[in-house]
Amino acid sequence: MKTIAVVGGGSGGISTVNHLAYKLRDQVKSGDVKIILIEGSQRHYYQPGFLEIPFDMMTPASTYRPVLKMLADGVTLVPEFATALDLKNMTVRTDNQSIKYDFIVIATGARYDYDAVPGLKQGTDNFYSLESAVELKKKINAFRSGRIVVGVSSMPYKCTPAPLEAVFMLNDYFTRRGIRDKIDIDYVYPMPIAFPDSGISEIALNMFKEKGIKSNLGFQIKSVDVPSRELVSQKGDRIQYDLALIVPPHRGSRLLESSGAADQMGWAQVDGFTLNLKGYENAYAIGDATSLQVSKAGSVADAQAIVVSERIVQSILGEQPVSIYDGSGGALMLTGMGKASMITSSYTQKPVFMPESYSFYWLKLIYNNVYWNMTAKPVLNGVVQ
Ligand SMILES: Cc1cc2nc3c(=O)[nH]c(=O)nc-3n(C[C@H](O)[C@H](O)[C@H](O)COP(=O)(O)OP(=O)(O)OC[C@H]3O[C@@H](n4cnc5c(N)ncnc54)[C@H](O)[C@@H]3O)c2cc1C
Repeated sequence: MKTIAVVGGGSGGISTVNHLAYKLRDQVKSGDVKIILIEGSQRHYYQPGFLEIPFDMMTPASTYRPVLKMLADGVTLVPEFATALDLKNMTVRTDNQSIKYDFIVIATGARYDYDAVPGLKQGTDNFYSLESAVELKKKINAFRSGRIVVGVSSMPYKCTPAPLEAVFMLNDYFTRRGIRDKIDIDYVYPMPIAFPDSGISEIALNMFKEKGIKSNLGFQIKSVDVPSRELVSQKGDRIQYDLALIVPPHRGSRLLESSGAADQMGWAQVDGFTLNLKGYENAYAIGDATSLQVSKAGSVADAQAIVVSERIVQSILGEQPVSIYDGSGGALMLTGMGKASMITSSYTQKPVFMPESYSFYWLKLIYNNVYWNMTAKPVLNGVVQ
């Protein structure tokens, strides 16, 4: 019997196990293949919803479902966190068991490292977890006047357009409440441009001009002065705020950090096309967990899930694994209340920002609902036609 272990049941992990269960259903039924998902969280989160909670586009409860309910028949859930990964001996451990595998996919995402910026946890808010988004909603509702700063503490972080989306949503939200003229909205970014792609940065900066939003580029946050409510940069510059929405620093999982397969920040080092962990043909990493220079996005995790599932299926059927990842990803980006754009890119295509429209906004609202039955059970990726 061949055992396939997938660690992490977020966007990439769920797509992987469900794709494998569909493709290998006969082998699973006959007992020739076992598909195991190791996930310690009871909930599977749809994280794009976190940004929408403060603006009433999604309710907190609609952003998650029980992991168990997300699984196709034929997937065995180990409801524990993996604590150690031994790639040479093809073993992954949890607190209660040691699992021998033939193939492994690591999809453990990113974790937030608040300690890297003193004062960040106590002094700022964000929309990068369910709890933070719920808290932020209360603060935004109560906000009447003053300066709101939206920023990013360091690169890389999940969903590159998310801070821009927050700026545009806040602009429309306070305009609708009739108090936009009493509120300053500032954008703070660690790079000298407003987005990692210079073309999209220019588009964003033009939109800032139209909407009266100030930007502070190249501002690398070193610490937060909580009593005086100021962001302090590496150079010693200070920005005062009344409410600050700051994306926390991201790192790879502790599991990867201790496995020897990750770089200094805990990101898995993989081949950009095969997604193999370097040096291991039976081990893969996907999604936010990798050090690849692609967006940390659900669309990327899903596209990669299909590639690694296909490669594993090909290996199990005795074929040469040929599926490769082309760097593709995309995001529906909110540009205000009732407006959105779409950004797509790949290894060979620079990011393209499509003109904002109501249709893309409408697509975003639809996608919030179809995610559960389409992307997560990967219909959109061509498995079930
Ligand atoms: C506010 C916000 C908005 C976003 N908007 C978009 C968007 O519009 N479009 C888009 O494409 N993407 C968006 N994203 C990004 C998207 O949500 C992530 O890129 C995607 O979830 C990554 O999938 P993943 O499987 O790599 O990681 P995750 O979905 O984060 O899953 C990782 C899983 O691994 C589990 N795990 C971690 N360590 C262990 C361990 N040791 N053992 C077992 N399990 C473990 C965790 O519990 C978690 O369930 C957004 C993210 C945020 C925060």
